[in-house]
Amino acid sequence: MSFEHRALQLDRVSKHYGEVRALEDVSFELRKGEFLTMLGPSGSGKTTTLRVIAGFVEPSSGALLIDGRDMTGVPPQRRNIGMMFQDYALFPHMTVLENVAYPLETRGVKRSERESRAREMLGIVGLADFAKRFPKQMSGGQQQRVALARALVFHPDIVLLDEPMAALDKKLRGQMQIEIMHIARKVGATVVSVTHDQEEALVMSDRIAIFRAGRLAQIGTPQELYTRPNSEFVADFIGEANLLRGTARREAGTCRLEGPGWRAILPADDPRAPAKTAAVTVVLRPEVIALAAEGERPANALTGTIEDRIYLGVEFRLIVRLADGSAVQVRSRDLARISALAQGDAVTLCWRDEDFVVIPG
Ligand code: ADP
Ligand code: MG
Repeated sequence: MSFEHRALQLDRVSKHYGEVRALEDVSFELRKGEFLTMLGPSGSGKTTTLRVIAGFVEPSSGALLIDGRDMTGVPPQRRNIGMMFQDYALFPHMTVLENVAYPLETRGVKRSERESRAREMLGIVGLADFAKRFPKQMSGGQQQRVALARALVFHPDIVLLDEPMAALDKKLRGQMQIEIMHIARKVGATVVSVTHDQEEALVMSDRIAIFRAGRLAQIGTPQELYTRPNSEFVADFIGEANLLRGTARREAGTCRLEGPGWRAILPADDPRAPAKTAAVTVVLRPEVIALAAEGERPANALTGTIEDRIYLGVEFRLIVRLADGSAVQVRSRDLARISALAQGDAVTLCWRDEDFVVIPG
């Protein structure tokens, strides 16, 4: 059996600046060709992680391997890494073609080959006809694609993107997200990107790493993070989440969860059921909550009064106020029944067993 190296491995990487713990015990691995996005609030350690990978920052402890090779003591220019940052910093006095060919020049590739490889890359990013232009003669999105071509042209082991879309307007950002993802796939690049825009992370990534205060809070596919967040922080960070607080109790072969205005039941052997009485938070996404049928007494239920009912074309958004004053957001396509409701009406809402997450505390 052949053993394929991981494209990238971080093993318990920490970086401290005096008292500041910029990174603490961060471990993850990437497969070749994988697109990872690091997502988290400002100051959570995303850029530091990129700088550790690039070699601009030496970890205080822990190890970094690229394609199975330990990078300790290997300077940035000896790591085969492509980079594209927010200020894409194209060389203004060079043509587009010269900009893209530049990394090949610094790597000693001969002139004729430099030009043909740079032209090929410009073709891939859709700028074949712009080779002779200067950066200032191009739009923001085009400049961005030049920067991407320059980051990819020398077939780097890893491409690092730090907030690559931050300087673009919203519409262009959306197009570029999809474009960059397709180009990265086409050339088989392994990519680590940074953003604080959750939609960007969902659109572009095979997996997302969520950072919080220098630690990796959770890493997984967009679906894993959305459907099985391991903390309130992650639940809140990806998508919309209702957080219901209460207590879990073992009782006659089941586990009962209860809080002000809501209850739920789990089979005793469900992995989500705490072993003994414990404080819990239940995570419910707005779209898994439904109106209970007339006269039904569902096992998983919450009761409250309608505070707001907003029609959004394909669905309604309901805001339901619970006994303890907290609000629950619901998104429902049960248009006929919801149309018949009015502000102040009492409602019973329910959800399926498989559609909720239980987080300790
Ligand atoms: P992010 O990119 O997620 O916004 P950073 O990785 O830039 O976060 O920063 C993580 C933490 O480390 C922050 O508290 C930041 O102030 C601190 N930090 C980053 N670089 C340095 C440095 N060179 N010296 C001191 N503190 C730093
Ligand atoms: Mg940053």
